[in-house]
Amino acid sequence: MSDSDGRKTLGLGGSRPSNVKQSFSHGRTKNVVVETKRKRVVVPKPGGQKPTGPGAGPVGDPSKRPAGITDAEMERRLKAVQAAKAREVEEAAARAAEEKARAEDRERRRAEIEAKEQEDREREESLKAKAEEEERAKQEAVAAAQAAAAPSEPVAARPTPNKAAPAPAARKTERDREETNKKNRTDDRRSGKLTVNQALAGREGGRQRSMAQMKRKQERARQKAMGGTVEREKIIRNVNLPPAIVVSELAARMAEKTGAVVKALMTNGMMVTQNETIDADTAELIIEEFGHKVVRVSDADVEDVIKEIKDDPKDLKPRPPVITIMGHVDHGKTSLLDAIRNAKVVAGEAGGITQHIGAYQVTTDGGQVLSFLDTPGHAAFTSMRSRGAQVTDIVVLVVAADDAVMPQTIEAIAHAKAANVPMIVAINKIDKPAANADKVRTDLLQHEVIVEKMSGEVQDVEVSATTGQGLDQLLEAIALQAELLELKANPDRAAVGAVIEAQLDVGRGPVATVLVQNGTLRQGDIFVVGEQYGKVRALIDDQGNRVKEAGPSVPVEVLGLNGTPEAGDVLNVTDTEAQAREIADYREKAAKDKRAAAGAATTLEQLMANAKADEDVSELPILVKADVQGSAEAIVQAMEKIGNDEVRVRVLHSGVGAITETDVGLAEASGAPIMGFNVRANASARNTANQKGVEIRYYSVIYDLVDDVKAAASGLLSNEIKENFIGYANIKEVFKVTGVGKVAGCLVTEGVARRSAGVRLLRDNVVIHEGTLKTLKRFKDEVPEVQSGQECGMAFENYDDIRPDDVIEIFEREEVTRTLS
Ligand code: GDP
Repeated sequence: MSDSDGRKTLGLGGSRPSNVKQSFSHGRTKNVVVETKRKRVVVPKPGGQKPTGPGAGPVGDPSKRPAGITDAEMERRLKAVQAAKAREVEEAAARAAEEKARAEDRERRRAEIEAKEQEDREREESLKAKAEEEERAKQEAVAAAQAAAAPSEPVAARPTPNKAAPAPAARKTERDREETNKKNRTDDRRSGKLTVNQALAGREGGRQRSMAQMKRKQERARQKAMGGTVEREKIIRNVNLPPAIVVSELAARMAEKTGAVVKALMTNGMMVTQNETIDADTAELIIEEFGHKVVRVSDADVEDVIKEIKDDPKDLKPRPPVITIMGHVDHGKTSLLDAIRNAKVVAGEAGGITQHIGAYQVTTDGGQVLSFLDTPGHAAFTSMRSRGAQVTDIVVLVVAADDAVMPQTIEAIAHAKAANVPMIVAINKIDKPAANADKVRTDLLQHEVIVEKMSGEVQDVEVSATTGQGLDQLLEAIALQAELLELKANPDRAAVGAVIEAQLDVGRGPVATVLVQNGTLRQGDIFVVGEQYGKVRALIDDQGNRVKEAGPSVPVEVLGLNGTPEAGDVLNVTDTEAQAREIADYREKAAKDKRAAAGAATTLEQLMANAKADEDVSELPILVKADVQGSAEAIVQAMEKIGNDEVRVRVLHSGVGAITETDVGLAEASGAPIMGFNVRANASARNTANQKGVEIRYYSVIYDLVDDVKAAASGLLSNEIKENFIGYANIKEVFKVTGVGKVAGCLVTEGVARRSAGVRLLRDNVVIHEGTLKTLKRFKDEVPEVQSGQECGMAFENYDDIRPDDVIEIFEREEVTRTLS
């Protein structure tokens, strides 16, 4: 390269250097002349010395130079000689290559045109072939040049696009040279590779025809020869079209190639991939384009597979009745159920509200099997009904003989009547001196419950859960009522059941207590339940035994769900997992849409309306997280009842499990406190809550929670003893120490562990136990305190079920001003 600065470069006659313009800062530019010496050609001198061969001899050897010739001149001459020789060779080669290429090309073209004649789009193809032919001619020439110009050759042979006899170098036009240069540059790189142009032109080097393609072609040719139809008979299909469909699924339903469908969509201006969803209108267009018939179906049709099949009366067999015990709090529901089961339910139930839904079966002395549901208040009963799961056949209304008909008694009556479920009145606590059964009977009259003793239809039994008096009569009454109902089910069909209770169990995953209503649920069955689906991994009966199957009216714990369903969700067994998943997906989407629609309504219309109406009504928003669904529902139910004309409580969200960052986010956005019932916030949620000033309150007694909210709602929060968390410790190991029991080897992760403080045991952020410490040790010594970062040994007073990875929460009580927003 030489800097020309506008001057002519030193070069041979025909050489035309190419200019390169360089740009520098401040707008300065510079022209640089690029001259490729290899490309320079000269006219061979007439009769001049024959070149000795490509690259032969040290061309620049000054010793062989004739006298009076300058170095530059000498070089030029030698190069001229060399180039002339090279040209001869290269042009001969190019000619030969071209000839060969043309022959080949003619051959190929003939074959191709013949093949193409058989195709319907003949005209188009032949046009293309013409284009291809031209392209090929060029390509062949290029290929030849490429072969000759291989870098291993000292002197490059150059193709001559102009097909005249070996042209003297002097006649070589500038255009020729430029073209050649260009080709050399590109073709060197191109060798053996496929270029976009080649691929698009369908040239050799592009995609080879597949065997199948060849076979199809042959088959077409054969059919044509036999006079048969070339086009395959088009099958017109009825394509089921839901409101939205994935492109690949649409293709599958039409039995067309996915690629073709994508292409058709693109032609219609829809740039979508095969995994994207298109709406029904677009899909309809495509279906019609492909010549198929559209059958519009709704998404809900996926549920068709679990449609209720009417049982043949002859298949029906008697089934046990399902009984729910209802009544006012403390009237003895739990005690009665206990007495009936003749077993003790977990002691220390906080606050007197039944916080866990269970279901149990008992067998009467008469050999009758009865299934009892244990519901928290009436929430589960109603919420189940609202979800379409009517599981209860008989309601036992418990009224304490020493008390009267109370608000929740009335509520229970209303529920039973609304559900059209027969009632049996159990007048409890008859052993008490203050018992007055007749007062209860008369009280009930006011609520249109006329018991048999008052010449009515409703059976009434005087009982005592404590002494066991009248229990047999109660069971007899239930059995009699069940007989009247003639309860039947078909055990020999796919199971249908209702979720009584569901929770995320540590270690076992999502667990649902399901009451089988019809059919038989078996291990290995595939099912859909609400928005969840699964395959029965294990069935556990009310005694904690693993069973292989559960028939009508049998409550079982079901393991093997993919998520936690909700109480009242209906379980249906399906044939395939795909069906189950499809239904679950559909339901999830439908529920989401419904929520979104409800949310939108709140923001746009309701909000305005509410703002008007609520001018003087203040609202206390809260978030509720509880350990089990039953508790959450009981709390929500209680919350909804709080409030008067001036204030009301709004539960923004209620759920089961640890308090998460999402909950904190929602609470912050609405300025709501979070109520944790037997659950805790996880670490990140705790941090966020601290940062954002979101109040999280923990409870283990529903009544405390209700009272607090009530007090807050009426602005009556007084100073009170409140718990302060002073530390957290993680259990690393658990040791057994004789005389002491289980001791947890812990690391204090936050704050301090204090011997005198209260402690709670958390497993997966759910409170497992609350109590005090029996011992707090550091290296064998009993210590009053252990700081964060240190290890220690802890043991609980009267509690042994501790496991590694459990968390110990250490708290102290102090008097503080309540701040419930
Ligand atoms: P629930 O809230 O309706 O489930 O009521 P519980 O079963 O927890 O009972 C409330 C209280 O009444 C408990 O202290 C029981 O011991 C007591 N209780 C229940 N049934 C009887 C009974 O038949 N006789 C007496 N004397 N006390 C009873």
